[in-house]
Amino acid sequence: MKFMIFSDASDLSKQIMTYLRGKGDFFLYTTEDRPELLSYGATKVTVLKGDQTPESLSSFLSSEFKSNGFDSIFIASSVIGRDVASYLAQSLGLKAVPEIYDVSINGSNVKTKRYGLGGKVVLEEESDAKIFTFIPGISDDNPSGGNSPSESKEIQKGRVTITAVKPKKGREVDLEKASIIVSVGRGLGKKEGIQQIEPFVKMVKGELAGSRPVCLDYKWLSEDRQVGYSGRKVKPKIYIALGISGQIQHIAGMRDSKIVIAVNKDKSAPIFQEADYGIVGDLYQVVPKIMSYL
Ligand SMILES: Cc1cc2nc3c(=O)[nH]c(=O)nc-3n(C[C@H](O)[C@H](O)[C@H](O)COP(=O)(O)OP(=O)(O)OC[C@H]3O[C@@H](n4cnc5c(N)ncnc54)[C@H](O)[C@@H]3O)c2cc1C
Repeated sequence: MKFMIFSDASDLSKQIMTYLRGKGDFFLYTTEDRPELLSYGATKVTVLKGDQTPESLSSFLSSEFKSNGFDSIFIASSVIGRDVASYLAQSLGLKAVPEIYDVSINGSNVKTKRYGLGGKVVLEEESDAKIFTFIPGISDDNPSGGNSPSESKEIQKGRVTITAVKPKKGREVDLEKASIIVSVGRGLGKKEGIQQIEPFVKMVKGELAGSRPVCLDYKWLSEDRQVGYSGRKVKPKIYIALGISGQIQHIAGMRDSKIVIAVNKDKSAPIFQEADYGIVGDLYQVVPKIMSYL
């Protein structure tokens, strides 16, 4: 099998290359010029320079796909990656399966796995799709050594012109640099719970973070404190998860934490599989108890 990979994020390029290693020959096309990407076993790494709009990138990738006889296209699920996948599916007339975390290809029969219903179910699907977007966290980032040949290609400007680039509103917190993170989930139950947890966060000299429902749906915390697949990827020395169930999309953002401590009143919560230390109990009872020992 001969696979084309497109990624505009080096951490996702590394995960996809690690995942695909041993399954076929893969060629990485990336907008990131990083020498470390050459040591993941790609047959070739092509660095895409010039115009970086999804339309221009996909127009280039589409002609590469046609002229190189690739079997499938794997795309890192980023804002640009998801756009590129749609353009390619349309221009090449190929089926696409988005947001997968597992795939097995047997001739034209492809089995994929992805999450549905907000992460509550796994969809195992069979199709003849050839384009896939991969969610972050599908595998560890494991270099194989070696030095893949590389080249640069200049992408020609397409129909879309970027007229201005405005910086996003500054972040409230730099969670990526925090060495202790106290992260709260829906189990907090109410917005006022934040004030009850803050003294504990201060006591352990940590930063406050949250799961997606807390940051995005209920807005108990700002969006830049969301940890997970669609939030921040953090790697603190200690990650304390309070009332977080541990769905894969949350784990994708904190699995590199050194020590994970979880408090959850449900002893079968998946977060305990990630945790080094687990406390089964009500966070509103457990947290004051821990504080009384500190
Ligand atoms: C495309 C996509 C992207 C996503 N990206 C993200 C992301 O970046 N980050 C993210 O977090 N999620 C993300 N999600 C959502 C994810 O699937 C889960 O829905 C979410 O992580 C669940 O958040 P939670 O653990 O806070 O809530 P729940 O799953 O509802 O878990 C709450 C937990 O609290 C426990 N609990 C309740 N009360 C207490 C108490 N008093 N004391 C102790 N424990 C208690 C319960 O037992 C339960 O385990 C994404 C989903 C999709 C589809």
